[in-house]
Amino acid sequence: MQRILFTALCLAMFLCAAPIAAQKGRTHLVRSGDSVAKVADYYGVSQDDLRAENGLSPGQNLKVGEEIRIPSRTRGGGRAHVVKPGDTLAAIAKTHGVPVARLAAANKMATQSPLQPGRTLVIPSADEGADAAGRPKKIDTLVKSGEVVRGGVRHTVQPGQNLWIIARAYNVAKERIIAANKMGQERPLTAGEKILIPGARQVVPVRVKGYTIQPIHFVRISNGKRATLRLMKANGQINPASRRELSRLSSPTGTKKNLRLLHPRLLHMIQRVAERWPGQQLELVSGYRPSQTGTESYHTLGQALDFRVSGVPNRELYEFCTQLQDTGCGYYPNSVFIHMDVRDRPAVWTDWSGPGEKAMYTPPATEPAQAGEPVL
Ligand SMILES: [Zn+2]
Repeated sequence: MQRILFTALCLAMFLCAAPIAAQKGRTHLVRSGDSVAKVADYYGVSQDDLRAENGLSPGQNLKVGEEIRIPSRTRGGGRAHVVKPGDTLAAIAKTHGVPVARLAAANKMATQSPLQPGRTLVIPSADEGADAAGRPKKIDTLVKSGEVVRGGVRHTVQPGQNLWIIARAYNVAKERIIAANKMGQERPLTAGEKILIPGARQVVPVRVKGYTIQPIHFVRISNGKRATLRLMKANGQINPASRRELSRLSSPTGTKKNLRLLHPRLLHMIQRVAERWPGQQLELVSGYRPSQTGTESYHTLGQALDFRVSGVPNRELYEFCTQLQDTGCGYYPNSVFIHMDVRDRPAVWTDWSGPGEKAMYTPPATEPAQAGEPVL
């Protein structure tokens, strides 16, 4: 029943993050198809701990119908803290370098709950996308990335997915996918590629193997303010704190009260750009802009970003933008950035105006600038 509930919850939540909190006395009834790796992954415990708990020798498999014990330790060594008299949640959080809210959540308690001396608290890692030492973690997760179309589901391939993983998740023969997509024969898939899963009626979560979230370096050109942010958690969901910080960084200085958070899909687009040019700094010109005149634009809606990527020609960046789904992309040959926004159907334009000039959608009669001449 618990498992069914968890599975239902997983589907509702779109992905199945393994439970973090340690629970005592859990057992699992082995069903056909279960393996040590699968069960360990499901409960968020290490395979070694699972084997030790059940006296399984290395290589020994699970027997269907057998009830096994799930160790109470958590994945990754599971740091723990035994509450001493006088301890506060805030102090424990500080000692271990984790936010209080994460510590409370990992232990299924409120931040103000009184602490019972003797109680063992689970200490989560400082950042879900990083291990205790701050290195990006490689975690297998489940992500839904597709849409129901005529004849099946159009699946967007995620980094770390292959034909076999996708076919298995949809319970469709690999050969049918190969045929439906006229691939001829099995070949590696590229992230972002869209493939039809023939006959599928709904989008299902598909495993993403060892997807590593790297932090992205941002700088706001106007004031030199910097931030290094992980926009996504390891499970592919948006990191709310990073969303807030990037929204603030890309807004005019002093926008505090009426700050509009950047659109979630815009963050996914920025993530795609960062993954295309890993390690390169994203240089921000303008994101959210409060409306001065009452008229709305993609910027006043928090759906647009003017930016460039250090070391990348804007033309190249613009072309990458046009490959993203349902995106508005503006190219400014006489300026220093491109415009990228979230909209319902794709739009592209070239604006030949210089910085601070009125939009000019056709090329000027005279040559805009000689090659090598600065445009600003
Ligand atoms: Zn713009």
